[in-house]
Amino acid sequence: MKVTLPDGTELQLEEGATGGDAALAIGEGLARAALAVSVNGELRDLARPLPDGAQLSIITGKSPEALELIRHDTAHVLAAAVMELWPGVKISIGPAIENGFYYDFDFPEDAEVSDADFERIETKMREHVKAKESFTRQDISVQEAIEKFKTENQDYKVELIEDLITNEGAETVSLYTNGPFTDLCRGPHATDTGKIKAFKLTSIAGAYWRGDAKRQMLTRIYGTAFLSKEDLAEHLHMIEEAKKRDHRRLGKQLDLFHFSEISPGSPFWHPNGMKIWNSLHELWTEQNARRGYNRVKTPILLDVDLWKISGHWDKYRDNMYFTDIEDRPMGIKPMNCPAHIQIYKSERRSYRDLPIRYSEDGLVHRHEPSGTLHGLMRVRHITQDDAHIFCTEEQIQDEVIQCLRFGFYIYEIFGFEPKLELSTRPEQRVGDDATWDRAEAALENALQAEGLEYELNPGDGAFYGPKIDLHMKDSLGRSWQLGTVQLDFSMPERFELAYTGDDNDEHRPVMIHRALFGSFERFIGILIEHYGGEFPLWLAPVQAKIIPVSDLFNDYADQVAQTLVDAGLRPDVDARTESVGKKIREAELSKAPVMLVVGAEERDAGTVSVRRRHNAGDDDAKLTIGELVDVLSAEVAERRRPDAG
Ligand SMILES: [Zn+2]
Ligand SMILES: [Zn+2]
Repeated sequence: MKVTLPDGTELQLEEGATGGDAALAIGEGLARAALAVSVNGELRDLARPLPDGAQLSIITGKSPEALELIRHDTAHVLAAAVMELWPGVKISIGPAIENGFYYDFDFPEDAEVSDADFERIETKMREHVKAKESFTRQDISVQEAIEKFKTENQDYKVELIEDLITNEGAETVSLYTNGPFTDLCRGPHATDTGKIKAFKLTSIAGAYWRGDAKRQMLTRIYGTAFLSKEDLAEHLHMIEEAKKRDHRRLGKQLDLFHFSEISPGSPFWHPNGMKIWNSLHELWTEQNARRGYNRVKTPILLDVDLWKISGHWDKYRDNMYFTDIEDRPMGIKPMNCPAHIQIYKSERRSYRDLPIRYSEDGLVHRHEPSGTLHGLMRVRHITQDDAHIFCTEEQIQDEVIQCLRFGFYIYEIFGFEPKLELSTRPEQRVGDDATWDRAEAALENALQAEGLEYELNPGDGAFYGPKIDLHMKDSLGRSWQLGTVQLDFSMPERFELAYTGDDNDEHRPVMIHRALFGSFERFIGILIEHYGGEFPLWLAPVQAKIIPVSDLFNDYADQVAQTLVDAGLRPDVDARTESVGKKIREAELSKAPVMLVVGAEERDAGTVSVRRRHNAGDDDAKLTIGELVDVLSAEVAERRRPDAG
């Protein structure tokens, strides 16, 4: 029989040859490195016979599929170890997930399992990994399988098989055995447990059987696995770093904001947090004005009739809040678009007016279930850096290019690494195919004209138009979707928007929805973690901590502070009767980027000793107050990045 390799070459194999045989036929090194095989795009065990004529690719540690495979293997090894340590434990499911795997267990009543047990579980797991136990697959009838798991008192497995019979009409199921452990599992698995090069159990939590709060509460053990010890160490370091940088923790430590049950999902911004907000807001105001946007402000309460026209009543009602005002039903806006449309519609528009660009720091409310709220990252009270552009179809490409350039300008300030995704027409959509053709082409042309690389997500566009999403990698390598540029044919249609063309006829404008931060709340949350609370000067709530060496110099410190305030800077005087050493240590902890130490010498010369965050070893620079103001003001005006020197 014959199979085709990724480079198009054909490989002649014996009848009944397996993926392992194919790997060996290509080369011994490959056979050693092989974990699994992709057969016509489907991942399979190396030990299974290949179908004739298959499109083949050998999966090794370098393949993108490898991690998921290894993590699923490790979940089985975890279950094997747990069953040996706690005889009578019932097992349920153990999939690979993003960044790792888990397995859900129903422990015997008297077992008190906690993360304190991780070490001995890991020790047991390591024995199985060292033994290089092979994963063997067995396909048996559902009756046999039910019989087997019933005798072993594994009720969850029995229920799973019964569901496979009901839902899929299954007649056989596959079992995988590694060492002493056999699991009901679709596979695939690598050849043996020795392929797991590094693993770690990470956490433990309760989880309902099948996610159903009325069913049994199980114990979920999470872990992760990698193909090298270095990769694991790097991952664990990143988790540690992310914990240290958690914006909820830093938000408290730096006194930026708090959350309260009085209004779940809605931050209370403290003075320090507002200083960050205002600095971002200045950036937003300045750049929108420079790029031809006109700022507007629209009400948050709007008649329900408006939400019926916009389609939100039908599609988005469950995420909205409503109230009656003088017996009139009103909805609190979850998006600003219909309100901006009112401004567009307040006048007759001609082609000469277009494009019209409105921007608003728009306050919207969206209902997120309380269980999904997460600090600033997921809130109900959202301030979008929203904008809507009304333009002709011919103007789309140019406008999209301007939006992208605007985005890159903003992201560059923070040192985010961008990744773009273009999403095209979904199955459910409004508008005819010819319009979609033109819209998708306009977005693609914009990306190509700018020489930008992007990923294509066919079918992932909104029902009202295609879009470009802007994802950013932060300093920990995590990816966030920040910006979006979305074309919309639907809203202009629903609200019967029009402009008079140069032919004197009425035409429909196209609408572009555009946000770059996403929302101020989430963006600040991301920035806190990206910087670990160590904001660059232009964003820092307290830019300069002024430290008088004793009470005698408090007046001089105040005088320096006032000069900085007059220059639009944000100083803070530490006038406490504490030692200079203690004040400097605490200023470091407060993450102020600049410390200014003042004593007799400085006062007499009209200078300050300038010390930068983290430069304990360096000599402090002496600057006159005038020089200091110039240096700091220039750095703020440039919004200089800390890594830019
Ligand atoms: Zn499995
Ligand atoms: Zn919008």
